Amino acid sequence: MTADRSGVGTVHLVGSGPGDPELLTLKARRLIDSADVVMHDALPGPEIIATIPEEAAEDVGKRANGERTPQSEIDDRIVAHAEAGREVVRLKGGDPTVFGRAGAELSTCIAAKIPVEVVPGVTSAIAGPALAGIPVTHRDHASSVTVVTGHEAPDADAPPIDWEALAQSGGTIVVLMGVGSLDEYTAALADGGLDPSTPVALIERASWPDQRAVTGTLETIVGVRDREGVEPPAVTVIGDVVEAIES
Ligand code: SAH
Repeated sequence: MTADRSGVGTVHLVGSGPGDPELLTLKARRLIDSADVVMHDALPGPEIIATIPEEAAEDVGKRANGERTPQSEIDDRIVAHAEAGREVVRLKGGDPTVFGRAGAELSTCIAAKIPVEVVPGVTSAIAGPALAGIPVTHRDHASSVTVVTGHEAPDADAPPIDWEALAQSGGTIVVLMGVGSLDEYTAALADGGLDPSTPVALIERASWPDQRAVTGTLETIVGVRDREGVEPPAVTVIGDVVEAIES
């Protein structure tokens, strides 16, 4: 993406897909196998992480104290590796540009004049529902799908999510990072006029060996989450598509 500088490694922002190693792209597989360093967190899932060559793997997820590694530190490490001439894979769950901070890391590399490329991946926003038998669009049920975060960063500049407009959209709503905040946005959607009987599904660890899906309605799903002990990572799907396919 930027001009090549001799002696500087290239940074590849690579999507891992939702977790099944067979859902990696061929390009992701090749880059993981040949990179000098593969910087990852836990989101690609245990099966894919187990395939990263041991000498290349660098975990930049949670630190020993349980807190997330700050983005600024990850950015610094990416730049340091590339400037030392290493080929860097920054491996991200799903697709790197969907709530994956690819924007920040792209800007960092471009500012540091480091060659960088994006390698798209299969996003959990679409694959998660699909793997649970839910098509995010359907001729008879939904002509649009909106992907939103359930965890709006308080320090971010993006405009806030308009839940009332989403409630009126008539399309499918997919929420990522939305297990803890389920109470708040289901209430906001109901306040915005979405029918309380609208079906809702939570797909936990999509494509991991222990994938699980639970369903309820806008009114009942919080109770379902609590009873079943649903934990991140999970995708929330809201809309008639949840019931489109008879199981
Ligand atoms: N870039 C990722 C999303 C990163 S945000 C993508 O395109 O999929 C992290 C959120 O993604 C999680 O909180 C969860 O909502 C969702 N997620 C990622 N992988 C998942 C999986 N295998 N199963 C369920 N949800 C997943």
